[in-house]
This record gives sequence, structure tokens and C-alpha cells, in this order.
Amino acid sequence: MPECFLCGNTDTTVQDNSHPYLLSCPICGQYMVPERFYDAICRDKHSEIHLPSGECISKEDIRYKGKCVAFERKLKGLDRYILVADADKEKYRKDGDFYPMGLNEFLDEFPKNHELLDRALLNLGRRENQRFGKKLFISAGVYASALFADTHDVVGNIINYLFSNKLIEIKTEHHSIDAWEIVITPDGWARIAELQRNSGELSDKAFIAMWFNNEKNGEIRGAIEEAVKGAGYKSIVIDEKRHEDFIMNQIINEINESRFVIADFTSIPEGKDKDAKLVNGVRGGVYWEAGYARGLKKKVFHTCRKDTQDRLHFDIEQINTLFWELEGNSIKDRAKFVNGLKQTIWAEVGKGPYCGRLGYN
Ligand SMILES: [Zn+2]
Repeated sequence: MPECFLCGNTDTTVQDNSHPYLLSCPICGQYMVPERFYDAICRDKHSEIHLPSGECISKEDIRYKGKCVAFERKLKGLDRYILVADADKEKYRKDGDFYPMGLNEFLDEFPKNHELLDRALLNLGRRENQRFGKKLFISAGVYASALFADTHDVVGNIINYLFSNKLIEIKTEHHSIDAWEIVITPDGWARIAELQRNSGELSDKAFIAMWFNNEKNGEIRGAIEEAVKGAGYKSIVIDEKRHEDFIMNQIINEINESRFVIADFTSIPEGKDKDAKLVNGVRGGVYWEAGYARGLKKKVFHTCRKDTQDRLHFDIEQINTLFWELEGNSIKDRAKFVNGLKQTIWAEVGKGPYCGRLGYN
């Protein structure tokens, strides 16, 4: 009997003639997983997966954290990923709708303790399809995943915390053994709106942080804007003139309202122009904007021209960076760069509201 790699549901279809396998689970949605991972967990019933890096990922983690992350992603419309070893992501980057995600990176999306209640409430709001006053049935079975719970006791505790914070009402007359009926209160909906606003979750904007005083700059700016548009978002670029005036409030507001930020860390050596004014060098503004966005817990995607890689500050050296190169006046393998950035955006924040809209892409 085929089963879902993530949640174990046996109503799953597994296309094992595709590489990687294509799975459709009623709970987790559609995703792909390499044959080797699937076999280890679902066919050979091993208790762990061995990654090329030497790490092991336990079946327990996949079936608890992985299942909850998959359920939240499905509720957010963020399924259709390929689960691979983190080191193999590049190999699986291809055209089409499915984008590679490292297994560790995927499991790391499981909320930290202090975020859990907020994320659980957001999931309940998503499950209700934004309908006010509708009763919601939660059982200790699969739908407990919306609350990031693995046992009946944990489901009960999370429901009680939400109730004591006046975010939900419990409608079940006698607390039954394995199910609760709840309704999100007006306070609960207000909290959901506040959380969505702060995370920029409803935003259709992407803030692009880069320098503008280089003649080759238009090429990379165009490529980044094309990737943002392809991913379904609008680019917000503060042009050079305004950067010089340093309209701080405007930059702060634009970043606050953006869903994510793309920061290009290209820097060419410092020099003097004809008026002996200092030009080029490391772009402090880009570092500042990327750091500010990260502090707001927004996703920040890094790009950099490959030949200036050794000028990256050591603080950000370890962060995944999409490198690009110039060939004459054009970007080398431009289509590959644009597609790679687009797919990274899809993997991390999902498709934007303009994705595939006629007349836009
Ligand atoms: Zn599943």
C-alpha cells in the first residue's frame, strides 16, 4: 500500500515512474521525493535517512515535524516542492513548478516554542477560509498538525492556551476524549490580522537592495526584476538619486511593507571620480537594508557578482548566495539565473498574487 512519505497517509498516490517520485497526499498536497528517501522510510521501514553529508534524519522527525510543516505549507498554498538532501539542491533545480528544498531546511520550518501559538492560530484562520463565526472541528488525528501537536495532551494544552488568551472559544459541551469544536473570537481575528501585517504575509511587494552607480548595473537589476515578476510580485527599487538623499523613512516603510527583500552584495574596489569624490566600495546601504529586513523576520535573498565574492563581509559569507557573472555586457546564463532566483522565491515565500496572471508575465 503506498503511503505518504511525510505523514504516512495511505490515501496517497505515488507515481514511482517519475524521478524523483511524485506524491499526492490529501493532507500534505503534491511534492516530490527521491526514490532512495522514499524506500528507506516507506518500503524498507528504516528509522532514519542517511544524507551524503553524513547526517541522519530520523523517521520520527519526518513524521512529526515534517508532517506539521507540510500541513502548514499546504494551507498556505506552498506545496509542490522536491525534498532532497540540502547539499543536492542545485542538482534538482529545473524548469517547472516544483522547486528543491533541503530536508533539514524543511524540518527547520517547524516553529520554535515561542512562535508556536501564533503560528497555530494563523493555521486555524487559514483552515476556516477567513470565515467569521464558523465552528471548526479539531481532532487529535491529522488536523492536530495545524496546531503543531503530536499527542492528544499537546492538542489539549494548545487549545487551552488559545482559549485563556481569549483568541478562541471552545464550543464542545463536554470535552470529548479526542475532538474539540472551537470558534475564533473577534480578538483572535484581530491577532491574526496583526500577525499577517507584521510578517508582510499579504504583501505583493519585493524590496530590491542594490547599488546603482555602475554602468553594468542595469543588467542585473533587469534580471532580478524579471525573476520577481515571474514569481508573481512587484519590485520596489529606490533609485540612486533618492538613495543619495537617503530617505530613511521611505526605505524603512518600503521594507516594512514588503513580503521579502533581494539584496545584491556586488562591490567593486573603491576609487575617486573626476571631482575627487569617493565612489564604489562596499555598499553599506545594502548591508543595512538586508539586516533591517532580517530583524523583521523577512526572507532576504542574497545575490552577488561572482568576481567580487571575496569582498563579501565574513558575517554574510556563509549565507546561501546566488552568484552571477558578466559576459561582455550581458549576464552569463541569464535565463538560468532568473529561473533560479524565481524558484528560490517560490520555495521560501511561495508564489505571488500576480503569478501566471494574463498580461503580467
Ligand atoms: Zn501526507
